[in-house]
Amino acid sequence: MQNIKTDYLIIGAGAAGMAFADTLLDQSDAHITIVDRRSQPGGHWNDAYSFVTLHQPSAFYGVNSTELGSRRKDDTGPNSGLYELASGAEINTYFDKVMQHRLLPSGRVSYYPMSNHVSHDAVNVDGDGQNICHIVSLLSGAKTTVTVRQKTVDATLFSPSVPATHTPKFAVADGARLLTPNALPQLWLQRSGQAIPQQFCVVGAGKTAMDAVIWLLRNGAAPDAISWVVPRDSWLINRLQTQPGVEFFNHSTGGEADKLAAFAEATSIDDAFLRMEATGQMLRIDTSRMPTMFHYATVSVGEVELLRSVTNVIRKGPVQAIEPDALVMAEGRVAMTSGTLYIDCTASAVDKQSIQSVFQGSRIALQLLRAPLVVQSAALTAFIEVHGGDDAHKNQLCTPVPFPKNLAGFARATQVSMMNQFAWSQDKALRQWMRESRLDGFGKMVAEVDKLDADKQAILARLRGNAMAAMANMPKLIGEQ
Ligand SMILES: Cc1cc2nc3c(=O)[nH]c(=O)nc-3n(C[C@H](O)[C@H](O)[C@H](O)COP(=O)(O)OP(=O)(O)OC[C@H]3O[C@@H](n4cnc5c(N)ncnc54)[C@H](O)[C@@H]3O)c2cc1C
Repeated sequence: MQNIKTDYLIIGAGAAGMAFADTLLDQSDAHITIVDRRSQPGGHWNDAYSFVTLHQPSAFYGVNSTELGSRRKDDTGPNSGLYELASGAEINTYFDKVMQHRLLPSGRVSYYPMSNHVSHDAVNVDGDGQNICHIVSLLSGAKTTVTVRQKTVDATLFSPSVPATHTPKFAVADGARLLTPNALPQLWLQRSGQAIPQQFCVVGAGKTAMDAVIWLLRNGAAPDAISWVVPRDSWLINRLQTQPGVEFFNHSTGGEADKLAAFAEATSIDDAFLRMEATGQMLRIDTSRMPTMFHYATVSVGEVELLRSVTNVIRKGPVQAIEPDALVMAEGRVAMTSGTLYIDCTASAVDKQSIQSVFQGSRIALQLLRAPLVVQSAALTAFIEVHGGDDAHKNQLCTPVPFPKNLAGFARATQVSMMNQFAWSQDKALRQWMRESRLDGFGKMVAEVDKLDADKQAILARLRGNAMAAMANMPKLIGEQ
């Protein structure tokens, strides 16, 4: 059995673990060991369908030290005019490069791919107050004992479920054909000997389902060849509001001021979303329905227009079973054309974890600190780990943001994110670091607004004023009053 010593053991080389490691490397002299079951860094992105992209511009995703993409804007397609969105392949290449060209060459990082961290039951604290953990190679079973001088970092808590690795909750009868979106680009291959399908049914209503519908449409399927099972309608963030360039200031910062005005003035959470729709922050596909779901799915107006072209939308609750010529739904049976290809998009991109303290003595539990920015939250946690003082003070700066389970959850997540941001703004070193951090997206742009630019200053004043009023009205929208 091999024995190694390290300062920090990071469990998970997904986006969260990589963003934490990158900032920890910059801000300390610590030795870091990273363990992951997968063979490459990037976590779930390794299992994504080939046409996946980020929801948000590449400009503020990844690790702090290394730009993702080249800040160009798309010239074609439904994201035209907006900043580029990295594809899954780009993201995987990026994280591999960060590992191979930055983390490992530093001489302070060890990486154990295809290896399991054997968790709590095998972890104990020895007489010196050091953690003893075990890493087990998936391929050889070889065990490595790791003495952790500082902390173990759990970077697995925000791990999403994706189509290729999840198990659908509904039954699939013999004769019905269900694929994941990963298989769509290979339909031309026909290895199975089955005919190429002419009818498609996308099952699920989240961003993956939207990606699958758009892929079908952009690759030649007619809108009336597509059925779409939508158990719940969702509010969607208008990607226009997430653009990092100063030319979008009115949409990004002005949009944030409008969002806070909606939170400040709304009489109910539905009213808040309708106000945000009226000012362009939120979109919905079917404007005749009130959505009940919000998971930060971010889309462009062009994508929504494409999605609206599919009119055969099946709203009878979740699918319970797929039969060769019918869908068995919670609220009834729906006849389907025999030979329809079903596409499973029901993996919950966000597996809700219960909230826990981020700093727990010898353990750090990485969580969302500013919704929905997973990587910024992880990098910030590393900065606070190094510079934040004792655990009590660090936890004051890092209240975990509960991921929304319903519309009111958006108000709660915004409220906690804002409280964290206020706490960060009171800490000079942290404020300075955030201002320079590429993962913030907007901080530097806002900080650099010319004092004589009356229009932008007016937007900033509106943002500040609305923030106070929004905080005052949030408890009513959350249902706490
Ligand atoms: C389609 C899609 C689009 C998205 N777009 C965006 C976006 O635009 N912006 C954004 O901020 N977020 C986006 N997200 C959210 C995204 O999930 C996060 O950005 C981020 O990738 C989550 O990374 P993670 O490291 O938390 O989890 P993961 O990627 O799941 O990584 C966790 C890692 O931990 C490893 N692991 C778990 N347990 C163990 C163990 N015991 N031993 C060893 N290894 C272990 C796993 O193998 C895995 O590699 C998107 C998600 C999806 C599904």
